[in-house]
Parts: sequence; structure tokens; C-alpha cells
Amino acid sequence: MAAWTREPVTVTVTGAGGQIGYALLFRIASGQLLGPDTPVRLQLLEIPQGLRSAEGTALELIDGAFPLLTSIDVTDSASDAFDGTNVALLVGARPRTAGMERADLLEANAAIFGPQGRAINEGAASDVRVLVVGNPANTNALIASSHAADVPRERFTAMTRLDHNRAVAQLALKLEVPVAAVHGVIIWGNHSATQYPDVTHATVDGRSATDLVDEEWLEGVFVPKVARRGAEIIEVRGASSAASAANAAIDHVYDWVNGTGDGWTSAGVSSSGENAEAAAGYGVPEGLVCSLPVRSVDGEWRVVPGFDEGPIAQAHIEASVAELVEEREAVRALGLLPG
Ligand code: NDP
Repeated sequence: MAAWTREPVTVTVTGAGGQIGYALLFRIASGQLLGPDTPVRLQLLEIPQGLRSAEGTALELIDGAFPLLTSIDVTDSASDAFDGTNVALLVGARPRTAGMERADLLEANAAIFGPQGRAINEGAASDVRVLVVGNPANTNALIASSHAADVPRERFTAMTRLDHNRAVAQLALKLEVPVAAVHGVIIWGNHSATQYPDVTHATVDGRSATDLVDEEWLEGVFVPKVARRGAEIIEVRGASSAASAANAAIDHVYDWVNGTGDGWTSAGVSSSGENAEAAAGYGVPEGLVCSLPVRSVDGEWRVVPGFDEGPIAQAHIEASVAELVEEREAVRALGLLPG
């Protein structure tokens, strides 16, 4: 008799043959994405030149003999990969190459995320949840969602959980406490160097974080350390931070599906619909995908409203939101944003 009691959930992973895919897929198969009682059907998407790598990973997944893994399909067809999908992890993206302008990068990624949005619109399950990891993640999520008119915008999210986890860990290291003692960090804005890791409302063992660290350390060390941690890892490790990115993707989806309880975390969410008013309260215009403090309630991300930010935080948030607006306008100017 099968060890599980539920119907398999279909999980699609794009860029499955890459580094993040390699770190992510085994954890999905072992039940860490959706929980130990949920069987998983994997649908892996790659571009033709990445197919062999994804097929190799699929062979290793078979060799894991994961009790929860019911099937694996590898394809270069977006319509096949997103057919019936419940959870879509959009990891594959076009990296920035030497001499590439930002508009070129946005255009190259729109050519990937526009068609994927349409394929999700056509074929995904009605409860589909999408997490974009591939950069520029916020604007890629916006592009995909703009091409999926029948899917509620709040189902398209961008990953800032790695930045959030990095901020929690850096604060814990500084104060020499376990990470479990740290609550209430917020990542605001774009998943880029303009993001703002904010400890204004954080607590450490129940005490206000701002009573425990000074402004000089926050502005001079903490904020740049979190924002540039990816570059530091490339420098030290000689390769990008694939495993911690995969770990953050697991955290994001797990919390989305299972809820966050009383606290909050950070995620790039749409500032439309149910979240428009709370986002506007922080100066985020309607229709962006922006990192905000969020709670997952009944399977939906809800922006936590009403945090009072000081002038330094507000200036950082405005700068990052302005960058998101610029990215949206650049994509719109290229004619790549319907509606
Ligand atoms: P990775 O698996 O390391 O990274 C994939 C994407 O995740 C990149 O856009 C990368 O951004 C982003 N990313 C976000 N957070 C992080 C982080 N903390 N650390 C590292 N990356 C992060 O890239 P690979 O080159 O190993 O693999 C990409 C795969 O995607 C390839 O196999 C390629 O063939 C495939 N691909 C698939 C597509 C599709 O399915 N349609 C389209 C394009 C590519 P950044 O570039 O900023 O590092």
C-alpha cells in the first residue's frame, strides 16, 4: 500500500538542469516542499541545450527511490511542462552577459517569461502558485503574470526569501544568538542591490533589535552585507549560491502552502487586488511585484499593513520601488507588457 494518503501535486521546475535545479529537486522529491504526506509529480522544463543535464538529474532522482515521487517528465515544451501544474518554480532565466544593457536583459527574459505566463494561463491547474527565482525575478514575475490574464495576479510571486534568511542569519551572528531567536525582519523592494533589509520591527529574544545594534553597523555593514551576499559567495566559493537559493525557494513555497502563523516573512508579491491598499500604505504603486512583509493565511500571501518606517528606511524603500517602476516602464516601452 502507498505510504501517502493524498493525490499527487504537480510541481514544475524550469531551468531544471542548472545549479539551483540540482539543489532543489531532491528536496522537493523528499517531501520538504509540500510536507511528508504529499506525493509529488515532477515536470521539468529545459531549453534544448539543457535537456541532457535535466535528464541526468532525473536519473539521479530515480536512484533516490523517493517514496513520495510518483513520476518525472523532462521536456523542452512549456505547454507540456505547465500542463496541470499546481506549483511552478521558474528558475531558468537568461543571465546577464558582458556588455549587456539592462533593457537587453529585460527583453531576453521577457522572451522566456511571457510565453511561460501564457502556457501557465492555458494549462495550469486552477490553484496554481508560481514562484519566480530567475533574475530579474520581480520583473520576470510581473511579465509572466501579465501574460496570464485568467490567473489571479497574487498567484505570481518573486523570491526574496533568500535575502530574508540572510538578514536573519547576519543579525543572529552579530548578536551571537540562535537564528530561532530572531523574528520580524523585513526585506523591502526589488531583489537587487537596492533591496532594503530592515530590522526596525525585528525582535531578538523578545527585545527590539534596534536596541541591540547601532545605526552605524546597520547602514555600514548589515545592509550592504545582505544586499551583496551573492557576490561574496561567488568570490569565496567560486560558484553562485545555488543551494541557499534552493533552500529559500523551499521555505517560500512551504510557508505559502502551510501558513506562517503569527509572524511574518518577506516575499515579492503583487501590489494589486487584496494587497493593493496595504502596499500603497508603503508607497508601492499598484501592479508591481515588490518585496513586502507578508503573512500566509489560507494559502494566500497577505501584506502586513501599517508598519511605521523612519526616514532612513523610507528613503531606501522609495529608491528600490523606483527601480521596480523603471524596470516595468522599460519592459512596457519594449511592448512586452500586455494590458
Ligand atoms: P542557476 O540555476 O544557478 O540560476 C538560475 C537563475 O536563478 C538565474 O537567473 C539566477 O540569477 C537566479 N538566482 C536567483 N537567486 C540566486 C542565487 N542566490 N544564486 C544563484 N542564482 C540565483 O543557473 P544555471 O546557469 O546553473 O542554470 C540555469 C538553467 O536554466 C540552465 O540549465 C539553462 O539551460 C536553463 N534555462 C531554462 C530556460 C527555460 O526553461 N525556458 C530558460 C533559460 C535558461 P543570476 O543570473 O542573477 O545569477
